[in-house]
Amino acid sequence: MTDTLTRPGFWTATVHEVRRLTPHLQRIVLRGPDLAHFPRLGAPDESVTIYLPRPGEAAPPPMTLRGEVWGYHDEPHPPIGRNYSVRAVDPAGARLTIDFALHDHGPATSWARQAGTGAGLLLWRCRAWFRPPADTRWLVLAADLSGLPAATRAVAERPPGLPVRVLVDLPDLADARDLLAAAGDDPTVHVDVRVGVGNGHGPGSLADRLRETTLPDGPGYVWVAGEAGECRTARSVLRTVHRLPRDRAVCVGYWRTDSADWERRYARFRPLLDQVYQDGLAAGLNPVEAGDRMEEALERMTR
Ligand SMILES: Cc1cc2nc3c(=O)[nH]c(=O)nc-3n(C[C@H](O)[C@H](O)[C@H](O)COP(=O)(O)OP(=O)(O)OC[C@H]3O[C@@H](n4cnc5c(N)ncnc54)[C@H](O)[C@@H]3O)c2cc1C
Repeated sequence: MTDTLTRPGFWTATVHEVRRLTPHLQRIVLRGPDLAHFPRLGAPDESVTIYLPRPGEAAPPPMTLRGEVWGYHDEPHPPIGRNYSVRAVDPAGARLTIDFALHDHGPATSWARQAGTGAGLLLWRCRAWFRPPADTRWLVLAADLSGLPAATRAVAERPPGLPVRVLVDLPDLADARDLLAAAGDDPTVHVDVRVGVGNGHGPGSLADRLRETTLPDGPGYVWVAGEAGECRTARSVLRTVHRLPRDRAVCVGYWRTDSADWERRYARFRPLLDQVYQDGLAAGLNPVEAGDRMEEALERMTR
């Protein structure tokens, strides 16, 4: 499944409203004239890379264009960027809403925890993966807290009458509040919450639950988002246990356990790993699958 990527460009915005949506989700509404032109990909998992202000700055600096690529090409210390789902976008009101998971530590979660109105952000690169084939008759969504905003949006924007099963791993039952509100009392939406697993506090249950589940009859679609290793296992389960064809499932790694260690190992073997990734694409794999092949190579090299 190839991601859908918009034209290059960036958007600036400031924090308009901050609200603790649930115990571990901070909702931040951004506002700014650029957001009136924010592209809509039409998929509930559309995401954007946000760049955070550097220490002492009110907002990240603008990007520059080199060739056809916008980026921080000439910044010796570029701002930190992280990916987040667009929970809601309102071009008429020039607003965009992001729900930040509050986990133990990290620049983005720390920023979200203490963000005040008026703080500046830069948004770049919109992408989406959720692409059910036209004949889809049911949906299964599986996510941890990081994938919950996109899963909730998928439930909120579901076609009327389409049966949806949602499997989530959350730190607290109350974190499911927005999801349950989106499901309403629709009997075709079934939400199954596991509390206290995954999310950096032990193994997740998503891949195991997908293994044990009986998928509905007929053509459907499975979307999974969460920790990268869990998503890889989920993808393998969907292929080997449920025998789902490639266009019937997408599993996107949203974060990594011990990302600093992964970065160190990746940096050691980067040229080789990038080649494995490119070879995968050349062999017809999609970017997610090529990424998996690269991960497997990295594990073999650093085992
Ligand atoms: C397409 C896409 C959409 C995403 N949408 C959202 C979203 O809407 N809301 C959201 O909260 N996240 C979302 N994420 C995940 C988010 O980008 C990562 O969690 C990111 O690593 C957080 O950055 P950080 O600076 O807080 O922590 P980092 O500096 O990346 O990591 C610091 C430490 O925290 C750990 N960590 C990172 N993320 C998590 C987590 N979620 N739970 C537990 N431990 C973690 C790491 O393993 C590391 O040890 C999305 C990711 C992608 C790729």
